Amino acid sequence: MTREEEQKVFLDQLVEHRFFIPMDSPGLFARTSKFENLIKGLEEFIVKATGEEEVTYFPPVMPRKILEKSGFMDSMPHLAGLVSCFCGNERSLLELKEQLAKGEDWSAFLSMTDLSHAPAACYPLYPTCTGTLPPGGRLVHLGTTCFRHEPSPDPTRMQSFRMRELVRIDTPDNVLKWRESWFERAIQFLQDLGLNPERVEASDPFFGRGGRVMANNQREQKLKFELVVKVYEAGPSLAVMSLNYHQDHFGKQFEIKTVDGETAHSGCMGFGLERIVLALIQRHGFSPDSWPKQVRELLSH
Ligand code: ATP
Ligand code: ZN
Repeated sequence: MTREEEQKVFLDQLVEHRFFIPMDSPGLFARTSKFENLIKGLEEFIVKATGEEEVTYFPPVMPRKILEKSGFMDSMPHLAGLVSCFCGNERSLLELKEQLAKGEDWSAFLSMTDLSHAPAACYPLYPTCTGTLPPGGRLVHLGTTCFRHEPSPDPTRMQSFRMRELVRIDTPDNVLKWRESWFERAIQFLQDLGLNPERVEASDPFFGRGGRVMANNQREQKLKFELVVKVYEAGPSLAVMSLNYHQDHFGKQFEIKTVDGETAHSGCMGFGLERIVLALIQRHGFSPDSWPKQVRELLSH
């Protein structure tokens, strides 16, 4: 089977076994409690495995300024989602209605609001850290529903998905040590669930020709690693987690300082919740009640 055929078979099975109900847009699914129970179990297991009980949940939208300030619009504008609204008057509403009735494009009647969707869990965090960090820096556990404009027939590549992240902000040394300390533990975390992950050097999906240079830099400097698992026979493995080092990028943009007055560095570890659960379904089958006992116990909640 080609990868595209495998993706279609997997999606059909997810629907048939009542995990997903497709909506009228690729990468957008309603999820049944059968699927959500697994997500809840995974979230609990993340808390147990990391020891980070307090989770901060940002809403799925955030101030648009963060997208602009963080450089997201320079490097990955194709993935961004902005919130726009109708801010017109009675007269323009009449015109809008006419366009709608004709089934024609009505985007000219919309204006950008000051909100965007969150493209990853950690973006809304940085502006809340502006100023001087406490001694020892910060370690924060975040949960956010993310939006990325990457419509795809692949059920593992969604437009709306949830991410958990642990974000460490401190001196370069401490951030790198923290990330280092997670390489083995993160692999163990996935192995405990019966998955067979591999760690690979990776890069973000930067836009265009300039993006290729940025991606090569990112790889050369080993700024991004992904833990990947085989979900489809054909083609590359699927990233279910990532371990990133941002250097002083966010520290500079959002004026975050360590206690010594230096610009803070940051790193994060992202868990793709839907992707991990989909990898588990692929690995253990479509009946969670008959999954291996150890996995069921780890995911009990
Ligand atoms: P990919 O290489 O597959 O495009 P990414 O490098 O863009 O992923 P990150 O930005 O590191 O991913 O996001 C952290 C995690 O969020 C990923 O490891 C993955 O598990 C999950 N994730 C990213 N994009 C999607 C998506 N479109 N649908 C579902 N999960 C996603
Ligand atoms: Zn992040």
